[in-house]
Amino acid sequence: MVNADALAGGYVVARQFTRANFIPLKSSLVPSDAASRARKIRPDATVDSLTWLRPVRPWWALIVLVGLLLVSALFSIPPIRDAATMERVAEAELVRSAGYVLLAPLLNVFDLLTLLSVRQHIALLITLFIGYALWWRWRGRVMPPTVTPARRAARVVARVGLALLAVLAVYFGGALLPRPMAAIEVQPNIVAIDFHAHTRFSHDGRPDWTPEDVRTWHRKAGFDAAYVSDHRTFEGARDGWSNNPDLAGQGVSLLPAIEVVWKGEHVNVLDADRMYRGIFNATLRDIDEDALRLASSVAGNEPVLIETLPGDLSRMIPARGPGTMGVRAIELIDGAPRGLGQVRRERARILKLADSLDLALVAGSNHHGWGHTATGWTLMSLPGWRGETPERLAFIIAATIRRGGHGTTRVVERYVADTESGIALPFTVPLVAWGMLRTLSVEERIAWLAWGVALFLLSRLKMLRRRGA
Ligand SMILES: [Zn+2]
Repeated sequence: MVNADALAGGYVVARQFTRANFIPLKSSLVPSDAASRARKIRPDATVDSLTWLRPVRPWWALIVLVGLLLVSALFSIPPIRDAATMERVAEAELVRSAGYVLLAPLLNVFDLLTLLSVRQHIALLITLFIGYALWWRWRGRVMPPTVTPARRAARVVARVGLALLAVLAVYFGGALLPRPMAAIEVQPNIVAIDFHAHTRFSHDGRPDWTPEDVRTWHRKAGFDAAYVSDHRTFEGARDGWSNNPDLAGQGVSLLPAIEVVWKGEHVNVLDADRMYRGIFNATLRDIDEDALRLASSVAGNEPVLIETLPGDLSRMIPARGPGTMGVRAIELIDGAPRGLGQVRRERARILKLADSLDLALVAGSNHHGWGHTATGWTLMSLPGWRGETPERLAFIIAATIRRGGHGTTRVVERYVADTESGIALPFTVPLVAWGMLRTLSVEERIAWLAWGVALFLLSRLKMLRRRGA
């Protein structure tokens, strides 16, 4: 039996949970014709238990945001740290321009995405997928049984497809859109170096990524010098070299190097074109070991080889002192997602190897033209470097590493929560998001708050308009 009161009661319950009341913003990605409007009627008990919350309901997103910004400020940490000791770096700080701060919520997220390892990306995508599915259930978007299988499939494809497009748009936006970058600022006698960068001349480089783009990218990230280390070619390095400033302190110097294979491992060879052209095979892909041994036999002239990541550290061949051939430096930062992952898993091993084998620790962006976030910087204290020519700077850097080895460099990294393994991995999204919030500057917090308030007001305005209509 159905009576009028019961129907009226049901109507009231349904009214209370209309979209306009419950969701301040229309957040569905699926157009209304693709989404079923059938919704579950919630039991009265749920309604009663939520009644007291009703006055704050439109405010909840803003309240959560303010809470997160305040609480994370209590646990704030510097956005950069020494990648070996994990401690604060006194001689450098991360500077965010006014343009960066203005767009902080967007750029912080883009930066965070660039700092994730392969595993963290996978954890993020799985979390998004699960969250999206749960959200659909929570919204009560259950398709009625009358929907034909064909239409049902089309709707599922629309739901998943549009969500995938949205995720891809964020990833591509982060990788391709030109934007302000967070930059390191160092004391005058320190030079900030990237030991590993690619141009369009690498087969896997972004097709339009010229050496001058490389220079601009590095200037925006606060680098003073960057080694162009393409695969199998010196073209990018030569182009960059020809446009270098007269003095190293006047701009970003692009210094020549090459990334080659030696016994299966990828190594970067500094100053390869001008000084060690003869140690490679004809295709510039591999090292000719006899030639390398010969070039390395003269103390003070040994080619400086850098072990890059990801790599098999057990296959690395270290130099054993003056006049011997081998690796003299190792990446503690490699900006590629696979490299970032290996460092987080094997940091202790890399540090131990560097210490026991007297290898300099360096940062390499391994940047191929995508993304606008520097993951790490190599700092070297070279008093007077600003008045030297780029050529002389390259000589001094190589000579310092050759002679001094471990301890001649300091690697600084952007902080990101380490969820690479164990129980932390499934919780990557909340942990890295929390880590990002902790690193925000006061200005960035204000920007986040301003954006939050603006979006909140916009949603209220939309709601009021809808009610008025
Ligand atoms: Zn590379």
